[in-house]
Amino acid sequence: MKNDAPKDLITDTVNATDASRQADTLVPITVAHGDGIGPEIMAATLKVLAAAGARIAPETIEIGEKLYHAGHSSGIAPESWESLRRTQVFLKAPITTPSGGGYKSLNVTIRKTLGLYANVRPCVSYAPFVTTKHPKLNLVIVRENEEDLYGGIEHRQTDEVVQCLKLITRPGCEKIVRYAFEYARTNGRKKVTCMSKDNIMKLTDGLFHQVFDEIRVEYPEIAAEHMIIDIGAARLATRPELFDVIVTANLYGDIISDIAAEMTGSVGLAGSANIGEHVAMFEAIHGSAPDIAGQGIANPSGLLLGAVMMLVHIGQPEVAANIHNAWLCTLEDGVFTADLQRTGSAKAGLPLPFGSMDFADAIVERLGRLPEKFKPVHYQAPTPRTEQAARPLYVRAPAAQKALVGVDVFVHQSALSADDLAVQIQASNTAALQLQMITNRGVKVWPGGFPETFCTDHWRCRFTAGTDRGEVAQRDIVHLLSALTEAGVDVIKTENLCTFDGVKGFALGQGQ
Ligand code: NAD
Repeated sequence: MKNDAPKDLITDTVNATDASRQADTLVPITVAHGDGIGPEIMAATLKVLAAAGARIAPETIEIGEKLYHAGHSSGIAPESWESLRRTQVFLKAPITTPSGGGYKSLNVTIRKTLGLYANVRPCVSYAPFVTTKHPKLNLVIVRENEEDLYGGIEHRQTDEVVQCLKLITRPGCEKIVRYAFEYARTNGRKKVTCMSKDNIMKLTDGLFHQVFDEIRVEYPEIAAEHMIIDIGAARLATRPELFDVIVTANLYGDIISDIAAEMTGSVGLAGSANIGEHVAMFEAIHGSAPDIAGQGIANPSGLLLGAVMMLVHIGQPEVAANIHNAWLCTLEDGVFTADLQRTGSAKAGLPLPFGSMDFADAIVERLGRLPEKFKPVHYQAPTPRTEQAARPLYVRAPAAQKALVGVDVFVHQSALSADDLAVQIQASNTAALQLQMITNRGVKVWPGGFPETFCTDHWRCRFTAGTDRGEVAQRDIVHLLSALTEAGVDVIKTENLCTFDGVKGFALGQGQ
């Protein structure tokens, strides 16, 4: 049988940020069994690791639902951080985030608290053994892991409007973009595609794209391109063979990596690494799958492949390769869990899908064997960092010349039209600051608004310098806010309008 499966990726290694560990000592790792299917797939994974002779000393911590319900709003107890910081290696099963206010995502908290800035998600099709419409899919998504809309900084501002703050930083962009190029270089990948939405979010996504363009020139041997995320995602879903390494912001990466993993045959097949300067966390990309929890039918492959990445990271590439090759053998032999059975991947004549533990046993039985159709995996220990990667991750540039040139004042009011609101607000104009425009949901509604524009109770009133000099002082803003408050205007918040080295640090209103 012809082997159509893409080959290179399965030997990829994450760019380990720590020196490889001693080969002959037990490496302490922190393990969490998680919620839902977590305990089932972790038990299966640890069984395979033990049988393969992984030199690890797991210490277990409790995280997830139990901890949330015990009053820990982030799903982790304070003492567990000590284990994570000491071992610096975390093998984590998925957990359930209770819905509703008051609970913070544990995953996001861990990634941000421990500085795990790079989320590396290899997605590979295993055709013809796993049924997929995309047999040539072989790509890695490098997702920024700490920023973007995942700051969880959300506020209800008016009766009708809630807000989530999207934060994109230059250090965050530089770290993730450089990581993606380093990953490509280390793993012999040929192209890095940046995906953003900078046609709309010119400052935030614009910075991501700009940093990509700055850093790509350091890697002349690697092709680089940018795509708007919508067409990029569409091409990913239809022609994944166009892609090699994709680097993108947190939310986009979260979405497209689930899509890519599912396209390979099941979301249960993909593992991921979360890499920081000090600590690294390894997991499946999927969640706790409460719909199938407790049935012993979950596919442990995602977590197992996460564990394989972990073994490479801690300097046990031969154990990682042994497990990965045995796992490939199970696929070649038609050993499938129920999720793959549903896709029609199973060979005729195999009566029942394998449960999680039976699947683990099938892998254990094949340890020491090499796949016949897939190219066998040969991992290497993490390579020393290249010159670029060995540099400090971020060097702060000298501060720009910053000038305050105005202020956006956000106002809650539901009774007045835009024109009437303008009259009320203009009465508070000071000599230093004059009302320039009003927008509603970003669209200019004064002066010269259209009656067709739907308005909520949330208005942005832009004030700029009323003097020729163009600059204002902080105290001018304080005076303006006093005048507005005196006039009974319900001010929600303000955003200063600044220029940096003469370049506007704010977007125009739509229609301005
Ligand atoms: P999910 O990934 O848990 O499940 C989506 C679908 O895929 C379900 O039908 C499920 O049965 C199936 N599936 C997932 N993993 C599978 C596996 N290993 N084998 C077979 N089938 C599998 O996504 P969801 O249902 O949206 O989320 C459930 C919970 O998981 C939520 O509480 C969410 O917050 C949490 N979650 C956790 C993580 C994590 O811990 N890293 C990641 C994503 C979601």
